[in-house]
Amino acid sequence: MNDRPPQTAASLCRSCASKRDVVTGKGSRFLLCERSRTDPGYPKYPMQPVVSCPGYVPLGNPPARE
Ligand code: SF4
Repeated sequence: MNDRPPQTAASLCRSCASKRDVVTGKGSRFLLCERSRTDPGYPKYPMQPVVSCPGYVPLGNPPARE
């Protein structure tokens, strides 16, 4: 019996207009939240997966200016 939560849950960040992929010189990949630049309520590198986020804006729709 495996009681661990599934690790394959889709993250909202993947399809969010505020997401930016960061690749380090050593090849490590990070998902950066651009909203963190202007709003301290958003972590720079959100813990994945993000299943609920008030700042989510689907790709193709630019984030609203606040
Ligand atoms: S706004 Fe929310 S969903 Fe979009 S990249 Fe940032 S943390 Fe992820």
